[in-house]
Amino acid sequence: MEFSDKHIIHMDQDAFFVSVEILKNSKLLGLPVIIGGLSDRGVVASCSYEARAYGVHSAMPSRMARQLCPHAIFVKGSMDDYSKYSHQVTELLQEKVPLLEKASIDEHYIDMTGMDRFFGCMKFAQELRHAVLDQIGLPISFGLSVNKTVSKMATNECKPNGEKQVEKLAVQSFLNPLSIKKIPGLGDSTFIKLSEMGVRKIHTLTQIPQDLMFKILGQNGLSLWQKANGIDNSPVVPYREQKSIGKQTTFESDSMDIAGMKIILTDMITKLAFELRQKQKLTACITVTIRYANFETITQQAKIPYTSLDSVLISKAKELFDKVYQKRMLLRLVGVKLSHLVSGYEQIALYGPSEKMYNLYQSMDKMRSRYGVDTIKLATVLPNKGETKKLYRQQ
Ligand SMILES: [Mg+2]
Repeated sequence: MEFSDKHIIHMDQDAFFVSVEILKNSKLLGLPVIIGGLSDRGVVASCSYEARAYGVHSAMPSRMARQLCPHAIFVKGSMDDYSKYSHQVTELLQEKVPLLEKASIDEHYIDMTGMDRFFGCMKFAQELRHAVLDQIGLPISFGLSVNKTVSKMATNECKPNGEKQVEKLAVQSFLNPLSIKKIPGLGDSTFIKLSEMGVRKIHTLTQIPQDLMFKILGQNGLSLWQKANGIDNSPVVPYREQKSIGKQTTFESDSMDIAGMKIILTDMITKLAFELRQKQKLTACITVTIRYANFETITQQAKIPYTSLDSVLISKAKELFDKVYQKRMLLRLVGVKLSHLVSGYEQIALYGPSEKMYNLYQSMDKMRSRYGVDTIKLATVLPNKGETKKLYRQQ
């Protein structure tokens, strides 16, 4: 197999939420710490390596975590703080590297291709790691290899506080002995399917013909086969170019029905938040736009802690709407945009303080993906007047 000549660094904070809590309170260092729902009905959002040693992991019900590790210290957690430190790390890296992608709240990819003639990539990555450690105080690990997938897998193998380079010629021998479970994006059901076929190690997966993988698992099967063979052509996407999602609604006739508009705004956000969760993304920035009947357009934007939950986004959007709508003039359009998107899903557990809330969102989303996004809504989203529906058409 001929691998690319790219040099991609993957950097990942170690037990990010826990590390931030330790920065705030050094007494937690070395202890089994669990972040998440404090009540028995809560969910684990993140946990320290000391707690992981007892089998605790994220998205596990707190009750079960407490049984596995009775002396664990439960901390409620603060998405505000985690978002703040996340932005600090991004800013630090952005100043020093040519091409940076923020992949999740605590993960970045850096494309060093072309720079490798001027810097030793390994030495450069080591300096970056130490800069984060020294200037921000958070432990971080990195992998350096020929593409995003192999680099990420290298990071995962050397965590915590680790560094690992997998050179072009060593890629396949690095991958071969690993469990297929280590391939990013390989879910539980696929793991069971492949295990039943006797495929447990990556080396075995590489021996399966591509078309058979396609027959068994479709497009996902092909993608897994490629990853197992060290192939991944996905580019490092610069942070500023990361996509946003948005919606806008133009009214059939210009209107001043503020209550009705807030319902429309809420409805749009419900759909966008669902889309975020389906794509396993979080947003850190919300923008509300209005256009008056005279076409004057006004925009307000706010940075928010990373989220994908309707309730958080809706209250912020209403606040922004009240800020933009200052003139008592007819409106012709209202729009909302969610940007600064990063990957992340399990962090959702932090907001829904209870397992019940977390499960509620999951089952609502399941129904939406089966029967359509309009099937089910939180009670606050439902219009109380029949007229509102006639007011708008969505774009
Ligand atoms: Mg991490």
